[in-house]
Amino acid sequence: EDVSLIREESFPEDLSRWQRPLRAMFPIIAEHPELVYLDSAATSQKPRAVLDAVQTYLTTVNANAGRGTYPWANASTALLEDTRARIKSFFADPAPERSDVFFTSGTTAGLRSVALDWLPGVLTDGDEIVVPFADHQANLVPWLDLQKLLAARGVRVTVREMPYQAASGDYDPAALAETVGPRTRFVAATHVHHVYGADMNVQRIRRAVGPETPICLDAAQSVGHLPVSVADLDVDFVVFSGHKALALPGSGAVWARQARGPRFAPGGWDGTPNTAGAAGLAAALDWLEAAGTDRIERWTTALALRLTDGLRKLPPYQVLGCQKSLDPGSGVQPRCGIVTFRHRDIGAHDMGFILFSHGFMVRTDDHCQSGAGEKTSSVRVSVHVYNTPEEIDRLLDVLRTLE
Ligand code: PLP
Repeated sequence: EDVSLIREESFPEDLSRWQRPLRAMFPIIAEHPELVYLDSAATSQKPRAVLDAVQTYLTTVNANAGRGTYPWANASTALLEDTRARIKSFFADPAPERSDVFFTSGTTAGLRSVALDWLPGVLTDGDEIVVPFADHQANLVPWLDLQKLLAARGVRVTVREMPYQAASGDYDPAALAETVGPRTRFVAATHVHHVYGADMNVQRIRRAVGPETPICLDAAQSVGHLPVSVADLDVDFVVFSGHKALALPGSGAVWARQARGPRFAPGGWDGTPNTAGAAGLAAALDWLEAAGTDRIERWTTALALRLTDGLRKLPPYQVLGCQKSLDPGSGVQPRCGIVTFRHRDIGAHDMGFILFSHGFMVRTDDHCQSGAGEKTSSVRVSVHVYNTPEEIDRLLDVLRTLE
């Protein structure tokens, strides 16, 4: 079970050669050939390397980290430090001695912590923040809660809506330049949209807001799916969930640049850390790096395009873009393996039942999208490195029978 063999198989060009060994690395996939898991944007499946790392930790040096002086306790403390360093290297952190990594249960908790533990020390009466209104609600609710909390203390903060481009669904940097003013102190953005799979072009956000404004990035859908370089992105916080990146639930983190504004030092987190989760997360990042996130991105994008192209030929289906459907002229390409669609006559929940009767597991609801997003539920297909073109073709075959 050597993940480096994927490299040797000219991944992802020669699919048929590496597909079988790669899928064999994911026990749940290998054990259920009759089922097709297409809900990786909700949570990913785990390679054996991650399961082994967790088991090895729990069966060799399991102890509470940061407390005792005996070898298991020291090994557990070292494991957390090593995983922090691993996260920094995975993000190609150019100045790891100046940044910090804090473990969280996931993206929701991480974004809340930036909002409630750090931003109150940044904002003063009359300040403005810019946040997304059509992304995941985990990236809107904390900023609105912060606004209420500060208002109760007599501090007025204006929350401005990050502007979107109607056709492509990513952020509109030109409109953002008009939204940003001298009182703008903070911007929250998303790396990859969880309903449309769109790359939100965060580098253009940095150029639009200038070099001083802190940016917090919700990277829930990008970590594990494409290269995430904090140097290239030039953001101040990267918040992600390990469970969407081949690791265990409850093993997320916040990477903090610690350069713009006060030091991020969330309090009240001194309880027992999720050390086994950290062991799994480090193993997941090793696995992803060995496979190559650039190649995973090419692979999942190819699968998403295959599905989108197939759906475009089936009249009852509408593939969703941000404020209008994707069409061949829109220039919108799905990335990170996410394609969301509706059937003209069959509701999303019914579609979910029909598809599972054929073995396909998909997401069917409003996908936790914030208020400015789509108003009715839809079907989201999301793939990861273990999915195959044959699975997409079989899904299209079933969808075709529902025309
Ligand atoms: N942000 C985005 C873009 C997401 O897709 C998700 C999960 O679907 C979250 C945040 C919340 O992640 P978690 O439930 O792991 O906290």
